[in-house]
Formats: sequence, structure tokens, C-alpha cells
Amino acid sequence: MTTFACRNCHRPYPEHGFPYRCPRCGGVLGLTEGIQFSRGQTESELPGLWRYRHSFGLPEDAPIVSLGEGDTPLVAGQGFGKKLAFKLEYLNPSGSFKDRGTAPLVSQLLARGIQDAVEDSSGNAGASFAAYAARAGIKARVFVPSNASGPKRLQIEAYGVELVLIEGPRSQAAAAVQQAAETGAVYASHAYLPFGLPGIATIAYELVEQLGETPGSVLAPVGHGSLLLGIAEGFSALQATGIIQNQPRLVGVQARRCAPLWALSTQGAAALAWVIEGETVAQGVRVRQPLRGDELLARVESSGGRFVAVEEERILPARDALALAGLFVEPTSALVWAALQDIASELAEPIVLILTGSGLKAV
Ligand SMILES: [Zn+2]
Repeated sequence: MTTFACRNCHRPYPEHGFPYRCPRCGGVLGLTEGIQFSRGQTESELPGLWRYRHSFGLPEDAPIVSLGEGDTPLVAGQGFGKKLAFKLEYLNPSGSFKDRGTAPLVSQLLARGIQDAVEDSSGNAGASFAAYAARAGIKARVFVPSNASGPKRLQIEAYGVELVLIEGPRSQAAAAVQQAAETGAVYASHAYLPFGLPGIATIAYELVEQLGETPGSVLAPVGHGSLLLGIAEGFSALQATGIIQNQPRLVGVQARRCAPLWALSTQGAAALAWVIEGETVAQGVRVRQPLRGDELLARVESSGGRFVAVEEERILPARDALALAGLFVEPTSALVWAALQDIASELAEPIVLILTGSGLKAV
């Protein structure tokens, strides 16, 4: 069974309560030994990603909380002389891939009897959490930077949760919600808590099913790193059971104005000193201190992949180029298209581009 533990001191996640960091050392929580996946335990009668429920590490009696997440289309394409496949994660119920992690996270909350929680987000995770909280009847407060896009703020409020606007960059919203957590609120953090990783890993299972083969390369935007790490864990689980033989090359894409993992991987640890939380239209990856950075860096390097940083002036044209091909995504999602222009020639096919969030959220 998939289990969770502190990445630092290896203490198992406690059976009761809902700490967002290790109660002993404050370390970041993660998977104990990767995701335990077995094709024979797939429950094909369950909706969307819930057919892989056995791999989520949920308690036996955890309820299914579903709005139809998962099973997103994979659309074939051609570009730069390469065979491409676009994974339309923006067609998830709240308009972003975050729903894959939120569904098992909210199931964990219910299994532990929690009816009241706080969360913070640049927008997409907040909207996703609001949607699933509404579905599950959980009372939620979501802290969002005051510069989050209007549509995302409207969406969060429409689900009936309390929206708390915090001035300043995204890190300020994170600090505010941690303060709330210290005064007793349950912090259902999509970034700190590891419960969403097995949900995100279902992208890998779907890709192999839809392609009928292992992708050669996978490109995804990277903020805290949960998306690409979750995908990597999914491919590892498939490899461990012999369903696939090789891992795809993983490419993590950041906005040049806030690109800590690109800086670290190309210039070493000293480069982190000059990485700032710069303003970027790619709001979803404006994360200066990625919580899963070390883990993701190791995974990307061992896959033979790399990190790419995209200059600001290239992000919106990349968004427009995807829209002209019928794919309307938000600027953060378009990072992968700009990156592909630079490195397509070195990537193995088929090349999968994860399109993370809907363009309707950024208008
Ligand atoms: Zn610990």
C-alpha cells in the first residue's frame, strides 16, 4: 500500500490529526517508498482516476469524492518535425490539473473527520480546493494573492468558500495561511501535503494507455514541482510492475523571472542567491522556494531530461500560438510550447505536453 512519511526523518504520517509538516522535525512530507500500483487492482467501474484508487494510500473507509476528474483527452499533433501529444489537463472539472490531487486530498480530509480547512494558492489550486470542498460539504477558507486573476477569484467565491485576499507576492499568502494553521485551522495544503501525488501520477497511467507506448519525453510547467514529480512517480510505479520498460525524459519548464530549479541545475547552488520572486504572467509557477525541488531535480536528471527557463516576452506569444491551434490555455501552461521551440530537436518522441490550466481563467 502507498504510505506517506517525513522526507527528512522518515517518521510515518500520523494516523490521527492532519499536520501539513512533520510534527517531529518540521520536514516536508512525501511518499515513503513510491506509489504501490498493481494493474490487477484497477477498479474499472469507478469514475475517472478513481479506478486507480488502490494506489492512493487512502484509509479503507475513505469516501470517493469525485466531480469527474481524470480521463482527459490526449490530442495528437505535429511540430518542429516531431510527433506531439497534448494532454488536455485544463479540461478537468475546475479547469486545471490540480483536481487530480485535490480529489484524494479531500477524501483524506473526510476520512479523518475534518469539516473545516484553509488553503492557499495562486488561483488554480484554490479554485480546485473550493470545488471539492463544495462537493464534500467542507467549510473552506482560501488565501489568494490580491493580484490573482479576476476569473480565478470569481471562481473560488462562486463555489461558496471564503476568499481571503493577501497583498504582495504569492509567498505572502502562504505565510498568512501558515499563521492561520498555527492558531488551530487545518491547513489542507496542496503543496505541503503528499496526498495529491498519487492522484497526479494517474496522468502517467493514462498517457501509457492512450498512447499505447511510453512517451519519449514529457514537458510540464514547474512551480513547487508536484505536477512533474507526481508524473515521474507514476512512471516509476509502472516500471516497477513491468508495464513499461523505460522512463520518459522529463523536462521541467519555469518562467525566467522566477526559475530556481533551472538556475540550480544549470549554474549550481550559488545561483539560488540571485533568484527572485519576479513578476510573471505565468502566475502558477511563481514559486521561489519549490517544496519538492530537490526531489524533482534528481528525478529530472536521472531521466536524462532538463529544466528550461522561458523569457517573459515569449510566454504570451506561445499562449497565442497554442490558441491558433485550437488549444486555449493560460499563460503558465504555454511555457511548455515556448520551451519546445528551443529543445524539440533533442527530445525523444512522442513528446507529451501537459496543458495544465484553462485560458478562461486568465482573461
Ligand atoms: Zn521529520
